[in-house]
Amino acid sequence: MSTASSSPFDLAVRGGTVVSSHGRASLDVYVRDERIAALCPAAAPGLPARQVVDATGLLVLPGMVDTHVHLMDPGDTGREDFPSGTTAAVLQGVTTIVEHTHSWPVTTPARLAEKLAHLEGRSHVDYGLAAHVWPERVGELDALWRAGVSFFKIFTCTTHGVPALRPDLLAAVFAELARIDGTCLVHCEDDDITAAAEARLRAAGRRDGWIVPEWRSRDAESVAVAVVATLARSTGARVTVAHASSPDMLEDVARYARLGAPIVAETCPQYLTLREDEVATLAGLRKFTPPARLRSDSDETRMWAAFNAGLVNHLSTDHAPSRMDQKAGSIWEVPFGLPGLDTTTPILIDAALTGRTSLERVVAAYATAPARRYRLAGKGDIAIGAAADLALVDPAASWTIGHGLVRSKAGWTPYDGRRVRGRVVGTVLAGEVVARDGALLVDAPRGRFVAGPGAR
Ligand SMILES: [Zn+2]
Repeated sequence: MSTASSSPFDLAVRGGTVVSSHGRASLDVYVRDERIAALCPAAAPGLPARQVVDATGLLVLPGMVDTHVHLMDPGDTGREDFPSGTTAAVLQGVTTIVEHTHSWPVTTPARLAEKLAHLEGRSHVDYGLAAHVWPERVGELDALWRAGVSFFKIFTCTTHGVPALRPDLLAAVFAELARIDGTCLVHCEDDDITAAAEARLRAAGRRDGWIVPEWRSRDAESVAVAVVATLARSTGARVTVAHASSPDMLEDVARYARLGAPIVAETCPQYLTLREDEVATLAGLRKFTPPARLRSDSDETRMWAAFNAGLVNHLSTDHAPSRMDQKAGSIWEVPFGLPGLDTTTPILIDAALTGRTSLERVVAAYATAPARRYRLAGKGDIAIGAAADLALVDPAASWTIGHGLVRSKAGWTPYDGRRVRGRVVGTVLAGEVVARDGALLVDAPRGRFVAGPGAR
């Protein structure tokens, strides 16, 4: 035995039930040099370690990987910034994010460098960054990919101040992405349908919450998905449909994939949990797009069935917070978006512990699959050589989500008052216990930039 392997491990997490995307087992996890170095049956005698965490009775999950978050930093930091947003993340077991901000888009390598310099020492979790495809900046895609962005964000409709890509330009961008082996996340809503609906609703003097689902209709989403999937198939570009909002959308994406389009779907907890009609009473607090689509218990059951059947490649928050006062004005003027980093892990764990899905499926959708999709090396799995990023969950805990738990600058959550089972009680990042029982254990943020595959 070499000296290196007989010296004590840096960390041991003992006595827990390790859950990966493909199963669970009673295993002790040993960490050396920020990586998982050994996995031993819990019955085996313990190996020496400098620090030991007793995980008896706990679930040991890989740190969650949330690849669609908006932390507004730099940008609109009155809504969120990296220290606040990543505090919310790390306290709920999320250890890697991929971030992009519409009000401060990364459209050139120089902008990426500027953002990276700004974020130094501001993140409690590891982070990749996505770039925006801007119509007059499509010549920058190759250079941005080689500079290390994780993916390109594309809009098919002008939204949040980001201009739409028309189908002809979309085809050119997809062809370029296929050439450079890049990948993209596409917000799919048809620009003509949403613009016409908006004009009609405004002309009618409508100001009620129902304008949101009428403006951002199911047809607008499915027409855009049809265009995007058609062009993905003809160009070979690897495309992810952002926030697919209904079982019908998920089935559409699966059908296009069977026809040969290299396309997968992402969804978010709001499409599994929130009802379409909540916007009638809650107005701005339910203004996000695509909007909630669930109308009945059977819709909800169908959406979970689609999630469990693998029609969802991965799940993310689409964390896009605004404070309650920012959500209080005219329904037309308040920003789109929901806070999500504080609540996504609890909502998913609860769904698994109450039988709507399995823990393995949660790990697959919110850790393993997104890490694989965006080639975040070593992330999203518990295996020898993987990053020592872990979420410790107490499955026996039962508690009520409330606005008071929210560490995002939003200060509120759509799940206020919801009773849930299971609780994140510890987070390990790069072999260090960085959070415990809802408190940060580190003074300075430890998160590091994770470069995209084009930079390697
Ligand atoms: Zn988004």
